[in-house]
Amino acid sequence: MIRLDRVTKRYPDGTDAVADLSLDVATGELVTLVGPSGCGKTTTMKMVNRLIEPTSGRIFLDDEDITRADPVKLRRRMGYVIQSGGLFPHRTVLENTVTVPSLLGWDRRKAKARGVELLELVGLDPAKLGDRYPHQLSGGQRQRVGVARALAADPPVLLMDEPFGAVDPVVREHLQTEFLRLQQELRKTILFVTHDIEEAVRLGDRMAVFSMGGRIEQFDTPSSVLGA
Ligand code: ADP
Ligand code: ADP
Repeated sequence: MIRLDRVTKRYPDGTDAVADLSLDVATGELVTLVGPSGCGKTTTMKMVNRLIEPTSGRIFLDDEDITRADPVKLRRRMGYVIQSGGLFPHRTVLENTVTVPSLLGWDRRKAKARGVELLELVGLDPAKLGDRYPHQLSGGQRQRVGVARALAADPPVLLMDEPFGAVDPVVREHLQTEFLRLQQELRKTILFVTHDIEEAVRLGDRMAVFSMGGRIEQFDTPSSVLGA
């Protein structure tokens, strides 16, 4: 479903962020990218999302080479969730949720109905929270809106970059549990960045363990990685 083939990223200043990285994520699988800060996880996600271009190597989505694809065209196929939700501060929760459908040209009524449905899906009450602004939510609620927004156009792929990184451990565990339940139902194909090895073990079907310089040390199931 997602495949990276010998991908390298050197930034213009000469930093080697990702080196000769190969990785595949099967349909419906959740692969975590785990490793210390600065080891190239976010760079990898940005290349898949087409925010930046690899220096060399190729990236495939369903056997289609998307290495240099138009990022706007990929929006329907990949949802992106970042730390703190990445919400627009001056838009309401409901408006934030349907950013992508609005971009895709859905009419307002259809977008709103979808927004309501999405908020319910992630366990938020649309009547109570839909008209609030992001700063009026708890950290956990903001993360849920971020997940709802990424799911808006029902993309088969989710890219999640430390989506639960900005909340305290209790809320994080709660979000993980809910997310696992949701994923049982949705079976999205997911790349999930975390620096928290426990989170990687808990959520990932497989985990890619990065070392500095953007190399993969291990790529296997959590039990094999822990047993190795
Ligand atoms: P992680 O997500 O694992 O913390 P990143 O992918 O953000 O790691 O960063 C990998 C390396 O690339 C780090 O050394 C970081 O400083 C560097 N880096 C990230 N973005 C840029 C950039 N725009 N220009 C130069 N170096 C960068
Ligand atoms: P969660 O488990 O979703 O993170 P919290 O326990 O952190 O929830 O928050 C409890 C309640 O406090 C939530 O219902 C939220 O609506 C409310 N809340 C948090 N911050 C604010 C705020 N800045 N303005 C209004 N309500 C808030």
